Amino acid sequence: MAQTKYIFITGGVVSSLGKGIAAASIGALFEARGLKVSLNKLDPYINVDPGTMSPFQHGEVFVTNDGTETDLDLGHYERFVRFQATKKNNFTAGKVYEKVIQNERRGDYLGGTVQVIPHITDEIKRRIKEGAKGADIAIVEIGGTVGDIESQPFIESIRQMMLELPSSNTALAHLTLVPYIQVSEELKTKPTQHSVKELRSLGLQPDCLICRLEKELPHDEKKKIALFCSVDPKSVISMHDAETVYSIPLLLYAQGVDKILLKKLNLSKVKSPRLNDWKRVVDAKLNPKKKVSIAVVGKYVDLKDSYKSLNEALDHAGIVNLAKVDIQMIDAAKITKTNVSKLLKSFQAVLVPGGFGSRGIEGMIYACQFARENKLPYFGICLGMQIAIIEFSRNILKLKNANSTEFNTKTKHPVIGLVTEWKDASGKTEHRSERSDLGGTMRLGGQQCLIKKSSLSHKLYKKLTITERHRHRYEVNPEYKNELIAGGMDIVGTSFDGNLAEMIEIKNHPWFLGCQFHPEFTSNPRDGHPIFNDFIAKAIKIKR
Ligand code: GLN
Repeated sequence: MAQTKYIFITGGVVSSLGKGIAAASIGALFEARGLKVSLNKLDPYINVDPGTMSPFQHGEVFVTNDGTETDLDLGHYERFVRFQATKKNNFTAGKVYEKVIQNERRGDYLGGTVQVIPHITDEIKRRIKEGAKGADIAIVEIGGTVGDIESQPFIESIRQMMLELPSSNTALAHLTLVPYIQVSEELKTKPTQHSVKELRSLGLQPDCLICRLEKELPHDEKKKIALFCSVDPKSVISMHDAETVYSIPLLLYAQGVDKILLKKLNLSKVKSPRLNDWKRVVDAKLNPKKKVSIAVVGKYVDLKDSYKSLNEALDHAGIVNLAKVDIQMIDAAKITKTNVSKLLKSFQAVLVPGGFGSRGIEGMIYACQFARENKLPYFGICLGMQIAIIEFSRNILKLKNANSTEFNTKTKHPVIGLVTEWKDASGKTEHRSERSDLGGTMRLGGQQCLIKKSSLSHKLYKKLTITERHRHRYEVNPEYKNELIAGGMDIVGTSFDGNLAEMIEIKNHPWFLGCQFHPEFTSNPRDGHPIFNDFIAKAIKIKR
């Protein structure tokens, strides 16, 4: 297609309605019709990027292949659409202001007064267009809710774009809440009416309203909303709670969301969608043949979203194996030497995910030791791999109090430490130190890993060179490499130059694998991920 067409997605009434899922699902429907889709998230908060935001507050930080720390919605995008997001697909108000202020300091505005309109809005529009480049359809999700003070420049920018581009190049879908009042047993359409009124007062008229509620929105309510909000009743869509998010593309398709938007975009002639993959995924998810229970020993156990991609990846592996994966989060800080076997004995496998800071580390080490000694499948991701190295060093190599310098700077055996200087594949030298900027010093994004022939990892990936995404500061200390290998810990994956350990396996263990990267970021429901798929397949076979 010659020109990129835009679908803007705004939200009203409250946040956390699932705008990201709606955007991703609409993307999936267009992809199924053979269109090239780009998905973009605009975050109205002032942080320059979400990299330094606590997972307790903001959910997981998703990492793109090009090494950007982004909002977790980009994870939804990549799970629903075969599209690889880059740093251009997510930006915050902070980033926009940072750029405009830089321009101003440089004198780019020739002494003019720098204002929200047009300077901030111009920068927002420039970035939206940049994220859309090369796509047939660019879906642009605006974070927050309409009426928030922070989101106004973003809403204004899309108003301008809808005015400046031909009408058939843009469409707007608005997601709102239709609450059910228990005592009067009534659905209330008023919040939706108000939110659309607010949107219209900002100069925007939605082409389609996606209503969030628990049970299907009845026809009468659709008609009422349509009348009050000036849309066709057919364009009022019920996005009610579903048993799995992966059925949302099918739910939206059944109500013709893609057709409504394609009509507005003057694209009615594109081919009909192929949705067999999604039907298979939903069928496998809703009709599992087996059950498997996995202990995830981590620290951010209270907020569901802080391990979003991880939970999804385990679920995808369940879909591939036709199994229901029962994921139990166990607070590592509560695990002690004496209670570990009691806490873990009913599980078929143990996973220690990524994390930062020293809380819960000793508990993770006990959990890892338990899995190693009891021949339970153990999967260590990033911090989880470092834990495996520490455990092995302490208990097999007898390096007393071996540790990572992240948790004990004075440890006698720093088996995990900072590699202060490292050349990446492009030849660029990266520097890291204990005191450098939190945001700036991580090994981030997709990096090549060379896999040892005939290892379990080789069997799983069926490749000798892979690319997976990193987000960490510490590494296996190369000085301990030989000792680890001699003791039976195999280093089966290394960085492109052979220097850094990227994957480990224990030879005399049925399934023990650690990786310094985060494979959960590249898993999707249609294929799963080679490591997760096999981890779950192996766990299913464990009798507890
Ligand atoms: N805290 C560890 C590091 O910085 C691990 C990070 C992670 O698990 N993502 O190296």
